[in-house]
Amino acid sequence: MENAYRVPVANRFIPTLPRLKGPSRIEKPVAEANSLLAALPRKVREHLHGNFEKVALTYGEVLYEPGEQIKYVYFPNDSIVSLLTLVDQHQALEVGLVGREGMVGIPLTLEIAISPVRALVQGTGTAMRMKAAPFLKELRQSQALQGELHRYTYTLMAQITQTAACNRFHVVEARLARWLLMTHDRMQSNPFRLTQEFLSHMLGVRRVGVTKAARTLQQNKLISYSRGNITILDRIGLEAACCSCYEIIKDMHDAA
Ligand SMILES: [Zn+2]
Repeated sequence: MENAYRVPVANRFIPTLPRLKGPSRIEKPVAEANSLLAALPRKVREHLHGNFEKVALTYGEVLYEPGEQIKYVYFPNDSIVSLLTLVDQHQALEVGLVGREGMVGIPLTLEIAISPVRALVQGTGTAMRMKAAPFLKELRQSQALQGELHRYTYTLMAQITQTAACNRFHVVEARLARWLLMTHDRMQSNPFRLTQEFLSHMLGVRRVGVTKAARTLQQNKLISYSRGNITILDRIGLEAACCSCYEIIKDMHDAA
């Protein structure tokens, strides 16, 4: 990779997930809804456009594994990508969530070419993708892009920090509510697809714990859950059932 550093990653010897086909290029017009890109001056956006391709990201696809080279950065439109850290070679825990407000591949903005996390598509949708080398070139040339990405990196760090505390101190129902709200904000669609196995990775709890938490939210008529599809029935009620971490993370993003 052009002038980007490779660094060792602590948990690089981990089993990889079976790889799906990978993001596919799409030709049809796509509504570009990434707010980080939208915040850039028009001239910068137009310049970036020459290097972008529109891709479809599909639920379950892995964009990077820990220790892998970052070949592309992704600016999601209506897709969502989970950042997972892996522990003891088989357990995964979500530490960050990236949607239309951000970019996947943040280490590159720090000139690091290796991903420390697994990036897993959690919500099917589209994204703008750019190869690492042209991205680095654009980044070095544009102060506006640097500014937006620095601000976003700060909010992502804050999100990861808050998530660490949330995972330690807050009960599973509250964490599940937080996670559903964060997903809903980014997807802006209802219902969304989610299996219990997937949720247990996101929340770092056993499937039985997820089932119990989902059942409680369902009994309180906040969500409905059937065959891997979750519908939020009462958003205000879900916000009340959620821990304070949701508002803290949201305020951070809104203020950035
Ligand atoms: Zn919390």
